[in-house]
Amino acid sequence: MKDMRSKARPGIPSSKRLEAIPPYLFARIDTLKQEARARGMDVIDLTVGDPDRPTPGHIIEELQQAALDVRNHHYPPYQGMLEFRRSVAGWYRRRFGVRLDPEREVLTLIGAKDGISHLFWALVDPGDIVLLPDPGYPVYQAQTVVAGGIPYYMPLLEKNGFLPDLRKIDPQVAKAAKLMCFCYPNNPTGAVADISFFRKVVRFARKHGTAVFNDLVYSELCYDGYRPGSLLQVEGAREVAIEFHSLSKTYNMTGWRIGAAVGNADILAHLLKIKANCDSSVFQAVQWAGVRALSSSQACVEENRKAFQERRDTLYRGVRDAGLVCQKPKATFYLWVKVPKGYDSFGFAEYLLRTTGVAVVPGAGFGPSGEGYVRMAFTVPKERLTEAARRIAKGLKKGRR
Ligand SMILES: *Cc1c(COP(=O)(O)O)cnc(C)c1O
Repeated sequence: MKDMRSKARPGIPSSKRLEAIPPYLFARIDTLKQEARARGMDVIDLTVGDPDRPTPGHIIEELQQAALDVRNHHYPPYQGMLEFRRSVAGWYRRRFGVRLDPEREVLTLIGAKDGISHLFWALVDPGDIVLLPDPGYPVYQAQTVVAGGIPYYMPLLEKNGFLPDLRKIDPQVAKAAKLMCFCYPNNPTGAVADISFFRKVVRFARKHGTAVFNDLVYSELCYDGYRPGSLLQVEGAREVAIEFHSLSKTYNMTGWRIGAAVGNADILAHLLKIKANCDSSVFQAVQWAGVRALSSSQACVEENRKAFQERRDTLYRGVRDAGLVCQKPKATFYLWVKVPKGYDSFGFAEYLLRTTGVAVVPGAGFGPSGEGYVRMAFTVPKERLTEAARRIAKGLKKGRR
């Protein structure tokens, strides 16, 4: 197969627009992972943001029941079932004290990624400026450039708690910016934002007429009693902002593909317009399972938090004992670890993988300000994290010449 492709035709070129997506920066790490496995190495993979734990049983049972109901075998409404949107609104009210109109201020998504990726097509014209977190979830940048927008990076620096300094944004850029993107609790740094930061964001956006989103998919993966807030808790936020939420990380449902966008009704109407021309929403049985997840006891979420908190503590302790520097995250399942002197982030990730079989993500893959860090996901069992830390400690000793 491979031979046939390389020998024969020159191949079919993609659109110019697709060429704007930067090369897949993690390809090199993927190759090294495969090579290490082929050599018989036991690879501990800390690269994936996909929990290994199963979806809670009551949610699976709801899907089973709903799948048998023939009324669910048809196209759902484009904006999602009202029952699901109501359950999202109910959850927001209980969790954040935010009241949403389920008819106009909630939109069902095929996971948060669906909404995030299409939002750029709904709001951004060629030449429009988009303010992006650096480092950030790579989809924000990719969809900005595919839509013809111009990325303007907001560096997330350790000395600022990995929050962007909005005063540093060039006034001309601020005035022209069409959309600004945030993700708190943050992937990849594990940082969190408080309501006073969100107030600054809303003030900035209203002053400049900029649309805003906060990617809130990690709101429930939080530790030590800390509970992240919502951007929509800020007064006036819904005049400019939406928020993305997802059942993926909260209920270990990454494969199910269900989430929601909530907030500003105009933005959601634009998003629905593009989506109605791309997809036909989420299988209704999955939406019913989502209703069950959001509306029933949240004991499973608490259990999940406990398990991830233990893992966080294990990896944090191990990584620190190995001599590496990082902060203990209050939320998410990521450790953002400083690269030791003498390496860049790709070099260090490569060194770790080759010598210890521990796979991590180089920070520079998330944007220029990610240089100097690697991301470790504690999405594997505790024993594996202990083993990973033991190997890293040994590998670092060897590396010290
Ligand atoms: C995992 C993740 C998503 C995607 O969530 P889905 O609901 O599974 O599409 C979006 N944003 C961030 C920052 C993520 O880490």
